[in-house]
Amino acid sequence: MTQITPRPGIMEIAPYQGGQARIEGVRDAVKLSSNENPYGPGEAAIEAFRRAAYDLHRYPPTDHAALRTAIAEVHGLDAARIICGVGSDEIIHFLCQAYAGSGAEVIHTEHGFAMYRISALVSGATPVEVPERDRVTDVDAILAACTEATRLVFIANPNNPTGTMIGEAEIARLAAGLPAQAILVLDGAYAEYVEDYDGGAGLVETCDNVVMTRTFSKLYGLGGMRVGWGYGPAAIIDVLDRVRGPFNLSSAALATAEAAVRDRAWAEKCRADNARMRTWLAGALAEHGVPSDVSMANFILARFADVEEAEACDAYLKSQGLIVRRVAGYKLPECLRITVGDEASCRRVAHAVGQFKGGAR
Ligand SMILES: *Cc1c(COP(=O)(O)O)cnc(C)c1O
Repeated sequence: MTQITPRPGIMEIAPYQGGQARIEGVRDAVKLSSNENPYGPGEAAIEAFRRAAYDLHRYPPTDHAALRTAIAEVHGLDAARIICGVGSDEIIHFLCQAYAGSGAEVIHTEHGFAMYRISALVSGATPVEVPERDRVTDVDAILAACTEATRLVFIANPNNPTGTMIGEAEIARLAAGLPAQAILVLDGAYAEYVEDYDGGAGLVETCDNVVMTRTFSKLYGLGGMRVGWGYGPAAIIDVLDRVRGPFNLSSAALATAEAAVRDRAWAEKCRADNARMRTWLAGALAEHGVPSDVSMANFILARFADVEEAEACDAYLKSQGLIVRRVAGYKLPECLRITVGDEASCRRVAHAVGQFKGGAR
């Protein structure tokens, strides 16, 4: 028998499943499975990426000063307390590496993002799943689940894949009620889609136990570039910076993200288009007898009568060249998560769901 074994917890990790990208034999499949921006990045970001091609022989800066300054200026934050990572996934990872580990408990919600559990297990910690109330984060249930071992509490607000969010007073109540050794992590991957919401940045300013994470993968259309960031108290950012590799972000990624965050017109256009098509799509699905909770993000969680109907609809959509996301792994087997695409994609998917509900299979 081999003596070579990984640390406890590692073999409990089911590898992360990304959204399916293609259908065998279909050329013009529409991918609505990964919450990507259907318009992609703006011209300024693309131009910055092109220019970066001429400097690829140079190592990137290790301090990310230009990108942190741009983010700070746009969002009105303190650049010294921003940390940048290879997607916000890497910030989640830094938090678990630095604060969780063997003996620690990491809380996530029932339908929470898969990376919280994965990163907790990688660190050697025990993930603790807390029930939601009708697909909405339940602050009282989280507070009740806290113990002396709780080190991190992850909440996506708005949450993926439910699209729901809780209000700022509820979040503040959660931060105030946590045990002294625990950090509240507010994952704001979809915060940009919510009008007049700072993703929790204001709470970071007034609490010493709150960290916010953000990403360039969704609204900014840069999922392929892998850039995210975190904002927190100086003491926590200092800790995370020690875990971070010096050259974690490429020069191309840094330059592209900086141009993207400064391009407010493109961000606003994408936000407004998403809001308009999200309302339209939710209404069209409801007319076909497929309800959903009001989504605050760039996807809709469509609810079907049962698991069988959700599976059958998924298969029918695939036959029509439409790829959506099954979310059985998120304990929502009777649902399909549909990314809000451009107008043509939204019309196609609504039409196909209508045909399915009308008896086509
Ligand atoms: C997409 C997503 C992220 C972003 O991941 P990146 O690593 O930044 O691409 C983070 N949290 C949630 C809840 C998400 O849905």
